[in-house]
Amino acid sequence: MFTNRQLGGAAARGAAVAAPAPAHRRPASRRAAVRVAGFKGSYKVVIVGGGSAGATVASHYVRKLGPGQVAVIEPSHQHYYQPLWTLVGGGFKGIDESRRPMSDVLPAGADWIPASVSEFLPSDNRVSTSDGRTYEYDYLVVATGMQAKWGRVKGLPEALGDGAVVSNMSPRTAPMTYTAVRALRSGHALFTMPKGVVKCPGAAHKACYISEDHLRRAGRRPDVAVTLALAGDKIFGVPRYAATISALVADRGIDVRLNTNLVEVRGPQKEAVFEVLGQAGQAVGERVMKYDMLHVTPPQGPLDVVARSQLANEGGWVATDPETMQHTRYPNVFGIGDCAAVPTSKTAAAAAAQFLVLRDNLDSLMAGGGADGARYDGYSSCPLVTKRGACMMMEFGYGGKIMETFTPLGVVDQSKEDYLMWLVKTEALPWAYWNLMTKGYVPWGEYKNALKRLEAKPAAAAAPAAQQQQQGGGAQPAPEPTRR
Ligand SMILES: Cc1cc2nc3c(=O)[nH]c(=O)nc-3n(C[C@H](O)[C@H](O)[C@H](O)COP(=O)(O)OP(=O)(O)OC[C@H]3O[C@@H](n4cnc5c(N)ncnc54)[C@H](O)[C@@H]3O)c2cc1C
Repeated sequence: MFTNRQLGGAAARGAAVAAPAPAHRRPASRRAAVRVAGFKGSYKVVIVGGGSAGATVASHYVRKLGPGQVAVIEPSHQHYYQPLWTLVGGGFKGIDESRRPMSDVLPAGADWIPASVSEFLPSDNRVSTSDGRTYEYDYLVVATGMQAKWGRVKGLPEALGDGAVVSNMSPRTAPMTYTAVRALRSGHALFTMPKGVVKCPGAAHKACYISEDHLRRAGRRPDVAVTLALAGDKIFGVPRYAATISALVADRGIDVRLNTNLVEVRGPQKEAVFEVLGQAGQAVGERVMKYDMLHVTPPQGPLDVVARSQLANEGGWVATDPETMQHTRYPNVFGIGDCAAVPTSKTAAAAAAQFLVLRDNLDSLMAGGGADGARYDGYSSCPLVTKRGACMMMEFGYGGKIMETFTPLGVVDQSKEDYLMWLVKTEALPWAYWNLMTKGYVPWGEYKNALKRLEAKPAAAAAPAAQQQQQGGGAQPAPEPTRR
């Protein structure tokens, strides 16, 4: 059985501060490391969370403001590139490739406070930490990610890691997926996707398709039935990609069950219990499936410390304007990444795009301007690995708007599986993450933004003067995100 802490869940990391490793056990840094802060009670910018979004924001503001001005409050001594866990579960990468010491990833010049924020006090411009300290800020960036709620599925924490029940959603369990697939000789491989908001909605699909491909290559597919049980009522939310996925599952004989939500795992009996959902999402029945291997994507949600704070919206997420990334009530607070209440798929790719908007708007605010010049269009990306050597690079924004990078260049058709996109997912993106994004550079996002500005220019020139004025002189027309 695993505890939440062993699973590396954000909440677990947030609940208690891991003691720093003794100096002799700390991996050697390849560059000037961030310094663990002695106590200093006040900073120009405090960033809560040093994950994908927080590290990226920190790198920019250390460059802009210089040393001693930026604090990152982050309890974990490991930084993870979580998108790699799918490839770990598929046997293509080792878990160590997804992990670097936090001290190597956070920028030198930032003060790293290795503690969890235990309370947000935005009316006083302060946060409190688990070690009883309080930090003041001029500007706050909240980047705490989200948490997996393993205990929401009865029996799951006990069964997880028993050899049959696995999950790519934590660093502890991701390597077990490949072990379980390799050990499976016959029977039923079952993959689940829960109700509600999850990070990287493609992750459950990827686990299923990669595992199925492995069974096929190993010649065991005729003896193993494969089922993908999705709590949602569609195979995928964006129709252009749903069409390819539907054809893929039909072609590969994967049994897809919609409206089927995992509620219990009976580990000793190898039974998965599902509620069958009606049109309004209510339970209308129960289904029990036997399994020989079960890959679970657990229910997920905002962190408790965020949900109970004054920063939260009614759903518990950081109440973030979905276009500007600024908090809807506290102008000197910004939300970014998985914790932010922006209605798009929660991915590192989305966090990268949000960073460019947050950076422009917060820079402007610091200079005495407004915080609404840059607008987030909901860009997110999910590289859907479908088998060894194939990936469909899905890129979309608010309202499911297609926002592909490579298709317009005539390089590939991103609605199809492609080898080049596999190379992008397995090689180019991890490289770009460690060497560019976490250092505060997102050149692919700058490129896309420059293209959008170019496209907007002729339209703005043609528009009547009054309309131009209304749109801020050629700025992007705002998307129409639904607020939540
Ligand atoms: C299996 C899997 C596959 C994925 N695949 C992809 C993919 O292919 N492409 C893609 O773009 N994205 C993918 N993602 C999603 C992506 O990893 C996340 O969207 C991204 O990491 C979000 O960044 P973040 O900074 O918001 O959160 P995180 O990176 O989770 O960072 C949050 C940080 O906050 C810290 N924290 C928690 N509580 C506190 C507290 N109380 N005080 C201070 N700090 C705290 C945590 O320790 C953590 O370091 C995948 C995720 C998973 C799990």
